[in-house]
Amino acid sequence: MTGIEKTLKGIKDGNITKDGLTFLLSIPTREEFKPVFDESALVCRRHFGDKVYIRGIIEFSNYCRKSCLYCGINKANRKVGRYRMTLEEILEAASYMKKCGSLTAVLQSGEDPGYDKVVLEAVKRIHEDLNMAITLSIGEREPAVYREFIKAGADRYLLRIETTDHDLFRRLHPDDDLEYRKKCLITLKKLGYEVGTGIMVGLPGQSVGAIADDLLYFIKLNPAMVGIGPFLAHQDTPLRNHKNTDIFPTLKTLALIRLILPKSNLPATTAMGTIAPDGRQQALKIGANVIMPNFTPSKYRESYKLYDNKICISEEYGKCAGCTTAIAKAAGKRIVKSKGYSKNT
Ligand code: SF4
Repeated sequence: MTGIEKTLKGIKDGNITKDGLTFLLSIPTREEFKPVFDESALVCRRHFGDKVYIRGIIEFSNYCRKSCLYCGINKANRKVGRYRMTLEEILEAASYMKKCGSLTAVLQSGEDPGYDKVVLEAVKRIHEDLNMAITLSIGEREPAVYREFIKAGADRYLLRIETTDHDLFRRLHPDDDLEYRKKCLITLKKLGYEVGTGIMVGLPGQSVGAIADDLLYFIKLNPAMVGIGPFLAHQDTPLRNHKNTDIFPTLKTLALIRLILPKSNLPATTAMGTIAPDGRQQALKIGANVIMPNFTPSKYRESYKLYDNKICISEEYGKCAGCTTAIAKAAGKRIVKSKGYSKNT
């Protein structure tokens, strides 16, 4: 047995170690990594068949109170025109996405608690009037606020941890505390949300061992969803000169997450489609089972760029739905009309 085969067998047997994960993450070529991709694709097929769930995103506000070093809409960036979609605009976008086949609305924004009242109303109306599942991706809040949102009808909450390396987390997030972020994730789970988290691959100073630690943290947290994105620089941030990550390390991380969390929902993220034209197809082929088309009205998209060269900025409103069907097909899969509740319960 080769070292790769032995390590893969260890993962299958539940013997998952930092050394094993670091070894697999360090494999330098796609050719050598192929047995891992084959296995992650197989595991994905076993649990999801050829189904791809669709979650439409509405980026409803780009106001943010924080200054994460990698983020194009962080509060220090004065070049961004700030916007908040009105309640009517949010509801119209949700209604349109439902017509296009997405039964889940992801409401995403910078950390903008001053707009929570409007978001709460939007959650109620989307839940009651449109009968859609709702994911919130709006950052850290107090437990009482999470409770209000779930009472209003929210189903899922996406809060990426980005890295579990204490020093790296502190350097990148001047306003945040890693332990508090972890606490938020536990609170969200306890309240009954389907919890999503995730990391960025290729952060400055991030070691392969640190990514292995992130994966071990995911095993403990057992989230319903994990989103992985490559680091992509934004010209108006302190990390403007850091090199963008290739798709390969991002795909390796995704494949390993599929192996350690076989039933979690794993999106083929927009950032993967930005770093490689067929990045989302590649992700769907090796283990992703979710795709997230953008339903933010066209006039706002240019102002919601977390990194440079983000794709789908100038797309006509609604065109993303057709595009995601084509992406799934190119990966040998099909979009299903479903709320796509987590199997990871
Ligand atoms: S990553 Fe999120 S919290 Fe941090 S600056 Fe960007 S929008 Fe704000």
